Amino acid sequence: MASQIPALPQSYAPGTDSVFSDQSGFYSLDSNVPGLSKVILNKLNLKDYGEYRAALEGKARGISFRNYKEMFQRMEETFKFCAGCNKLPEHLAEGQALKRCVKCLNVYYCTKDCQRKDWVQHKKVCKILRLVAIDRLVEWLMFTGDLPIPTEKWSKSAGEVKNWDDWLSMQGDLTPRLNTILSGANMAALWKNASRPRPDDADLRQSLWRIQSEFLSRVLTVGLAVQHFKLDPHAKPVTVHLVGTSHNETMGARLTDFDELNHMFPGHQGIEVVMVGPEVVDGPIMRPPLRAFGPKQRVYISAYKALYHQFWEDVVDKQEAAKPDLVVGFHPGFHANQGLVEGWLPTLLLLRDYNIPSFFTMFSEMELKYSLEILLELEMHIRDSGPNPFTSQKPEQVQACPNKPPVYCNSHYISFQGLLPQEDLGGRRADA
Ligand SMILES: [Zn+2]
Ligand SMILES: [Zn+2]
Repeated sequence: MASQIPALPQSYAPGTDSVFSDQSGFYSLDSNVPGLSKVILNKLNLKDYGEYRAALEGKARGISFRNYKEMFQRMEETFKFCAGCNKLPEHLAEGQALKRCVKCLNVYYCTKDCQRKDWVQHKKVCKILRLVAIDRLVEWLMFTGDLPIPTEKWSKSAGEVKNWDDWLSMQGDLTPRLNTILSGANMAALWKNASRPRPDDADLRQSLWRIQSEFLSRVLTVGLAVQHFKLDPHAKPVTVHLVGTSHNETMGARLTDFDELNHMFPGHQGIEVVMVGPEVVDGPIMRPPLRAFGPKQRVYISAYKALYHQFWEDVVDKQEAAKPDLVVGFHPGFHANQGLVEGWLPTLLLLRDYNIPSFFTMFSEMELKYSLEILLELEMHIRDSGPNPFTSQKPEQVQACPNKPPVYCNSHYISFQGLLPQEDLGGRRADA
C-alpha cells in the first residue's frame, strides 16, 4: 500500500524544520504549488539566479548540467513518478520504464494497469494538464527575456479596467508580439532540447499569454489593492511592501517588472515596491529601499531578504525605509500548517496593530476559506474577500498529486486592516 504522500525524489523535499514547507513537502510561503523557478533551482541544485546564469554560460564549477537538453531533462525528471502508485524510476524492475500519458505528455505510469486504474481520475484533468506541460517549458522564456511582451499605454482609467477583458481591449492585437517570440532563437532552442515535439503555434501563443498573465497578475493585483484602499498615487507617493516574496517573484526580477503601474496610474507621484521575504533571490532589485519620496512617475523596486517583522525591526523602525501605505502578499499559504501560522504570526500581528491596509491572495476558494478563519481568529478587520478579477490564467498543477484540479495564482484575495471593531466582537472580548 503506497503512502498517501507521494514518494518524490529526496532532493525535492525541503527540510522539515522549515516553516516554509507544508507536510507534503510543498513550499507554502510563496507557493503551495512549486513554480518553474523552484524546480530549476532545487532540481538543478542551484543557489540562485546568478548561479543559474553562470551554469548556462559554463562558468559555474560543479554544476551538473552541461546544456539546455540536460536542463530540460532534469526538470522533466521531477515529474517522473507513477501517477497511479507513486513508484519512482528507481523502484521499477530491470528493463521497465515509466511511460507518459500520450494525450497530455504530463503524467507518468509504471504499467498499463496503473494507467487504466487511474484514468477515472486522470480523464477529468488530462486536457488541462496538457496545457500545464506546455507552460512549464515555455515559462523558461521568462528567464531568457523573451517574456514579458511589451504592453501598451492605457486608454482607460484604472477604475474602468475591471478585469482581463478590459485590459486586453486596450492592447490591440497581441498576435504580432507573440509571433516575434514564436520565431525567436530561444523558442527554437527550447523545442530542440525539450524531450517532446513542438506544439502548434496556436497552442504556443496561448501558452505565452498564460505565462504573461501570471507575471501581470501580480502587478495588476497590486494596482487593484491600491484602488481598493482608495490610495491615490496622483496625490502623493505610495509605498507598497510585498511580503513573503520569494523565488517566484524575485528570481530574474528586473527593475522594470512593475512598470505596468505607470500605465495604470499615469503621471503618478512615485510608486515604491519593496519585496521582503526570507527567500528573496539576489539580483538587480537587491538595493536599499527609499527613505524619502521616490522619483515621480517612476516605479522604484527594491528587495530585502528577511522575514517581514525582522525587516521592520532592522530597517523601518530605524527610519531607513518609508512606512508602507499598503502591504500585499501573494499566496502566503498561512493556512497550510501550524508552523506557518507561527511563521506568519508576528507579521500578521504587526499589520493588524499598525493598522496597515493589507491585501493577500490565495490559490483557491478553499485556501481563501481557511485563511479567513485564521485572520478572524486574530480579530483582523476583514474589509473584503472574493475572486480576483486579475487572476493568473496559467493553471498550476499540484505536482505531487497531478490529478487534483489545477489552481491559479492570485485567484482569490482578502483585504483587511486593523483590529475588528469592538461592537463586532460580541462576547469574545468580554474577558479582555
Ligand atoms: Zn504504478
Ligand atoms: Zn493525460
